Amino acid sequence: MSELLFRTDAYLKTASARVQSVSERGIELDRTVFYPLGGGQAGDTGVLLRAGGERVPIIDTRKGEGADRVLHVPAPGAELPAPGEELMLEIDWPRRYRLMRLHTALHLMSCVITAPVTGGNIVPDKARLDFDIELSQLNAAHIERETNALIAAGTATETVWITDEELEAQPELVKTMSVAPPRGAGRVRLLRIPGIDLQPCGGTHVANVAEIGAIRVLKIRSEGKHNKRVEIALSGSG
Ligand SMILES: [Zn+2]
Repeated sequence: MSELLFRTDAYLKTASARVQSVSERGIELDRTVFYPLGGGQAGDTGVLLRAGGERVPIIDTRKGEGADRVLHVPAPGAELPAPGEELMLEIDWPRRYRLMRLHTALHLMSCVITAPVTGGNIVPDKARLDFDIELSQLNAAHIERETNALIAAGTATETVWITDEELEAQPELVKTMSVAPPRGAGRVRLLRIPGIDLQPCGGTHVANVAEIGAIRVLKIRSEGKHNKRVEIALSGSG
């Protein structure tokens, strides 16, 4: 098991850690700042720095088998560290920060479009949510204007934890039908944007929605009867 440092501080860019195991699938560490692919959010990239200064490029991060296990996927051909070795971890922060801003923007957009969410994905240059709604009800200019108004309000986000039982009692908290929150660990992590949104989410978010800046709608299209896709990008940051 790995201590998931990004859960309590999404702004951690570096940390030290000890190698627990090394396999073809990836490197496991006793603690990590690397977010593994999940909840639609892309896995982190970055580098592991060995004591001698050698760099092990990490091209992806995935969940391992079992709770709180994280596989740091090394670049093909990279010289691998040995179990027990102490390393410095460093994520590609500009990339992660874009993911955090886009991810938090999707929370806001899910409050502008009041329909069940049937899917979602966040990569560094764009993000999307799918809704179970009629295509004719989706207006790009409206979505952009309302989401940007929520961003401009500059609300601070909060992480809260509730028990599995509390979540069972409030099924309306779960907007995303395709990504059920993980149960069985006894407690569930939620993101609260006071006055705007509250939903289970294990991803990384910005501390204040103003950090998103602004978004623009790239595309709205049908991906099936229950999937009307709205794709966004950060405004003015490429
Ligand atoms: Zn989230």
